[in-house]
Formats: sequence, C-alpha cells, structure tokens
Amino acid sequence: MPWNDEFECMPLEEMQKFQLAKLKETVNWVMERVPFYRKKMEEAGVKADDLKSVADIRKLPFTVKNDLRDNYPFGLCAVPMNEVVRIHCSSGTTGKPITGPYTADDIDQWAECMARDLWAAGLRKGDIVQNAYGMGLFTGGLGFHQGATKIGCAVVPTSSGMTERQIMLMRDFGATALFSTPSYALTIAERAEEMGMPVKDMPLRVGCFGAEPWSEAMRDEIERKMGIMAMNTYGLTELGGPGMAFECEARNGLHINEDHFLVEIIDPVTFEPVSDGQRGEMVLTAIQRRAMPLIRFRTKDITTLTRERCSCGRTLVRMDRITGRTDDMLIINGVNVFPSQVESLLSEFNDEIVLQYLLVVRKKKHLDELIIRVEGKKEVFEAGPGKVTHVEKKITEHIKGVAGVGVTVELVEPKGLVRSEGKALRVVDERPK
Ligand code: ADP
Ligand code: ZN
Repeated sequence: MPWNDEFECMPLEEMQKFQLAKLKETVNWVMERVPFYRKKMEEAGVKADDLKSVADIRKLPFTVKNDLRDNYPFGLCAVPMNEVVRIHCSSGTTGKPITGPYTADDIDQWAECMARDLWAAGLRKGDIVQNAYGMGLFTGGLGFHQGATKIGCAVVPTSSGMTERQIMLMRDFGATALFSTPSYALTIAERAEEMGMPVKDMPLRVGCFGAEPWSEAMRDEIERKMGIMAMNTYGLTELGGPGMAFECEARNGLHINEDHFLVEIIDPVTFEPVSDGQRGEMVLTAIQRRAMPLIRFRTKDITTLTRERCSCGRTLVRMDRITGRTDDMLIINGVNVFPSQVESLLSEFNDEIVLQYLLVVRKKKHLDELIIRVEGKKEVFEAGPGKVTHVEKKITEHIKGVAGVGVTVELVEPKGLVRSEGKALRVVDERPK
C-alpha cells in the first residue's frame, strides 16, 4: 500500500484535471507576483485562461538555469520574505549557486513527497536510518530527514564525511537504512571492509541513494558489498530538492510525484515534445509550490517516460534512470559520451578493477583525448607491469569497440583516486574553453 494512495494511485483523467487546476493557479500566482514571469507570459501572449488541457502547457515559455542566476538571489521569489521559512542552495556543481526559498506549506509538501519516496523503499516506523547526505544548504540532508521523520523512523543525522565514525555508529546503533549519494555508499562499504566490520554483517537492509548519476552496475556493486537493497531517488534544488521521483519495489523506473510536478520530455534541440519511451530532456513545472514555483524548467537531465502499468499499483508516471545531464555529456572528437556509460563498461571488468574512476579530457594537437583513470585491484599490480599493461589494453579495446570513441585506460594503484563523500567528481575537462 502506498503512503498516499489517493494521489499515488489516482486514475490519469482525474490526475490531469487536478494538474490543470493547479497549473492555472500557479500561472496566475507567478504572473501576479513575479515581474520576470509577467513579462515572459505577456511576450508569449499567454495567460492562465488559455490553458484548456494539461497539454496546453506547451504554450508557456521555458525557464532555464540562467534565469535563476540572473535573478539571484530572490528575483523569482513569489512571496514576501516574511512568508519564507527556509532558504536552501544548490550544490553549485555547474557554477553559481541557485537559491531555493520555501514557505511553510512548501516544506510540508516536500516532506510529503519524501515520505512517499521512503515508504516505497520499505521504510517504516521502527527503522533506524543513518542520514549521510550533506546536512546544510544542500537539499539532500534535510529533505531526507523530513521525510523519514514524517514516517516516524529514528533518524541519525550524521551528515556526510568522518567515514570511520559513520561506520562505528552504523554498527552500534544497528541502522537498518542508509541515505547517501551512491558514490559515498561505496566509500563507506569499502572503508568498513578495511576496518574489519563489513556492512554485510550489520542489520542494514536498504539504502536510498540519489543526487548524482549512477549505473545499474554501480547498484549491483553496492548491493553486493553491503548486502542491502539499493533504491534510486531523484530531485533537484530548483524544484525543491529530492523526492520528486522515486523507485517502488518493482524497480523499473522512478515514479514522479506528478500531482506536484508536471513533467514533459522535449527534444533539446527543437524543443518539441517527444512521445513516451523516447529519450529527451526533462522539463518540470512545480504546480503546488508557492515561494518559487518554476514554470517549465529545463532540467538538462536526459530520460524517457512510461505510462505502462506498474506492478506496484501506483499510477504515477515513471521516468527512466537518469544517465546524465546534457552538461555532463562529453563530446570526444564528435562522439557523445556520458560518464555513466563509461561506468557501465568499466564494471564489466570487476575482477580486475574497483569501480573508482576519473575521466580526463585533453587536447592533443587538434584531437580530443579521453583518458580513463580507473583503480586496478591489488592482485593485478602484484602480478607485475606486464599484467597491468594487459588489463589496460583489454579495457581500452572494449570501450573503443562499444562506445566508438578512442580512449586510453590507465590503471591507478589501489586507493590512488580520491574517495567521494558527496557528489563524486567524475570528469576533469582540460581542453581550452
Ligand atoms: P547541482 O545542480 O548543483 O548538482 P542539485 O543538488 O540540485 O544541484 O542536483 C540536482 C541534479 O543532480 C539533477 O538535476 C540531476 O542531474 C542529478 N541527480 C539527482 N538525483 C539523481 C539520480 N537519482 N540519478 C541521476 N542524477 C541525479
Ligand atoms: Zn511502481
């Protein structure tokens, strides 16, 4: 049974009626209060009454990351500051931070979306959850905290870092769930093994991981190392943080909380909508938020949608796992490469490597050069330089063959790459801008 079956299992027709009403309300709300939107809507010659169906959302102009930067810090805020009860910031992975103000209602809605998410992952009252997402300006920490608190779990807000203490508390408190980025989960798993207290031997049962792209291969690795179920959860600061979309027990895509977020997938070049099942950029509209409800925000995240019935009974539309944002996509001599694609290919060499890697892109004469630094296992290095070269060559050939791009794989000695405590750094692009 879902956390909120009224909305999570709502028939499509009823959902779309609900969405249309909320969308119109939101368009009026921002047009009355935010000069930026009033101007944009007037330029586009559109107002709330022109929206006769959810599909009419296409008449509205897009909002992009730069609009948020240009209006930094509170230019897009639709309520007076005395109604704001919290202000978060994006982690700034791709530049100047983006501010996210919340009203008290916005915070409640967020907690509701997170509760649906964590409930679907199997969390219940009685669970002890270790929250190792960065606690602070980053929406991950408090977002997960509120959702788990709403369900009634015992939350241990460790925040990220201090990995050894993290592991000690996990064992001593008997944590049954872990919240963190997937890359930090691997860091914890690895350190715990080195400390002689493998997570596998602890009561930990489930992990709720997100905030960065990760592959199915990485999920397998985490599950194997920790002996848990690893669930995927998605969100972004601009739309309020984590809890926008979550996996259910079917683990066949992430259900989007579409009574809160209207989702579209567009072709990032033509801006035309693509049909279900086709890849494109996800565009989101927050239809219930009040402090900063973005209209048609271009996320730059690439995914597909499906409305096929899910075995869990939820009717909420599902999105595919995000393989990367258009920003992350590397263009190597004209070939598009996503770091997560390299991650999947590397994972096929689990006997010789550990899944810790860094992609370095350089200019060599006029050509791009992609160097993949990946950690070799101790045994490979112990077998001597001949073995190292052999493994490097083998992986290089494989990636060349599948991804269609020339690469150089360099095996790094065990522990040679920095471990992540939050969002992992996967790419260093040294090409002149
Ligand atoms: P920043 O943009 O500074 O990284 P956020 O913390 O708001 O700030 O990050 C949101 C972004 O993180 C999303 O747009 C998406 O690219 C990525 N992300 C979040 N959750 C996931 C996930 N489960 N899988 C893949 N990518 C994710
Ligand atoms: Zn489902």
